[in-house]
Amino acid sequence: MPQKTHNVSIIGAGMAGTLLAILLARRGYSVDLFERHPDPHSGERDIELASNLALGERARHALRVTGLLERVERVATPMRGRMIHDRSGRLTLQPYGYREYETLYSVRRESLQLCLLDEAERQPKIRTHFDHELQEIDWDAQVAVFRTRHNGGGHTHRFEVLIGADGPGSAVRRSMDSVSDLGSDISMLDAGYKFLTIAADEQHEPLMDPHALHVWPRGGYMMLAFPGPDGSFTATLFLPLKGDHRMIWGFEELDSWTRQSAFMDANFPDVTPLIRNLEEEFREHPVGRMGTVRLDRWHLGGKGLLIGDAAHAIVPFHGQGVNSALEDCTTLDTILDEHPPTWEAAFAALQDRRKTGTDAVANMALDAYHTMRESVRHRDFLLRKALERELEIRHPGRFVARYSLVMFHRIPYTEAYERGKVQGEILQELLNGKEELTEVDLQHAARLVNERLSEVPVSA
Ligand SMILES: Cc1cc2nc3c(=O)[nH]c(=O)nc-3n(C[C@H](O)[C@H](O)[C@H](O)COP(=O)(O)OP(=O)(O)OC[C@H]3O[C@@H](n4cnc5c(N)ncnc54)[C@H](O)[C@@H]3O)c2cc1C
Repeated sequence: MPQKTHNVSIIGAGMAGTLLAILLARRGYSVDLFERHPDPHSGERDIELASNLALGERARHALRVTGLLERVERVATPMRGRMIHDRSGRLTLQPYGYREYETLYSVRRESLQLCLLDEAERQPKIRTHFDHELQEIDWDAQVAVFRTRHNGGGHTHRFEVLIGADGPGSAVRRSMDSVSDLGSDISMLDAGYKFLTIAADEQHEPLMDPHALHVWPRGGYMMLAFPGPDGSFTATLFLPLKGDHRMIWGFEELDSWTRQSAFMDANFPDVTPLIRNLEEEFREHPVGRMGTVRLDRWHLGGKGLLIGDAAHAIVPFHGQGVNSALEDCTTLDTILDEHPPTWEAAFAALQDRRKTGTDAVANMALDAYHTMRESVRHRDFLLRKALERELEIRHPGRFVARYSLVMFHRIPYTEAYERGKVQGEILQELLNGKEELTEVDLQHAARLVNERLSEVPVSA
């Protein structure tokens, strides 16, 4: 154990905080896990928990090593590709890949959270404190102060080591930054999102293909829908916060039911009738914000550390936030395994191994934002995808689409990013001036692939 510390305090019983608590408790640490929300078992429900997440190989690996994968898979729905809906309602399936393992798993956030919390509850060394919202931290005295709904409204906790897993708006990050400059760079997207529910039929059968992520790309905005286990879908409408008053509407302009229903009917005519409580959901569901957090430093010596979204939030369009947050936890666990270092050395090693990668995936998530809104419906995007697939089939293990490297492999994000750039150049060179796949010189392609790309390392 680093430096004889026996107690670790974690702020945020979300995905990263709960998984890390389990891993640390299994190593023999006593863990205090604080969460501002009530226990999800209590039935008091946050709308975010009703939404769905796509899990790829990084999250699945973290769940596999923790022994939770089977449990999560029982409540997850496999998705084999994107189903693109055009304005006329025509559907096109774009498979994620041609290999069996190139499948994403849609899981309700609440189900994943409950699997993790149930496992945490089985660990005698974890004490979970719900309804505890962190207010401030005195890093010198090593004291954290919480607002609670019980005990007269406040609670003071002395900590040895404190880990902030409290999401994109992290209070731990703000507190650390106020005592030592973390070099924060936070940029918010000028778009927001709203969750809507696409109902199943009366027999609880899905009204759309349940094995696909559904996408309605519309240029400056879009809608996505993830399948749920009960035949329904959780849709997320992504729109600019403010439109341009001409071609593109924003949430600000959709300020009446007349405008909201006209907008939905005009843009998503095939699915709007299936959103039974559209008016109520537009009114009740808040507009969520998204942004990118980049920090130069994730830790305060050996006293404090940030993980998950608190250290490196990204926009959600590559479906990597949870994947990456859980990968932080397994990486720290491996670091603690290798040689018992001091906490400061362990935290520095985590930042060292992860930071360039999380910066790279932040860029890829912003790229994906543009791709999903725009390019998935364009002819040159489809031609590029077709060639990419052809090269993947002809050069397995050497030419692997960047999307697949990020979602279905565990090679570092930086490597996926770099390989993606080289592959992008090869595609560009081969497609220059071409309109059909049959015009591409595949022998020349083989030479370029063999010259410029090595074998993709197999993840351990
Ligand atoms: C619309 C949308 C879609 C997404 N889709 C995907 C996807 O498909 N795949 C994917 O991998 N990722 C996705 N993400 C990203 C993913 O949700 C996050 O990356 C992930 O939840 C990060 O986990 P975390 O544990 O770091 O933070 P969180 O899950 O945000 O957990 C933080 C926890 O800390 C608690 N907390 C916050 N402040 C305090 C406080 N002051 N005191 C005590 N507790 C506090 C919160 O209540 C929460 O429980 C999506 C995000 C959005 C917004």
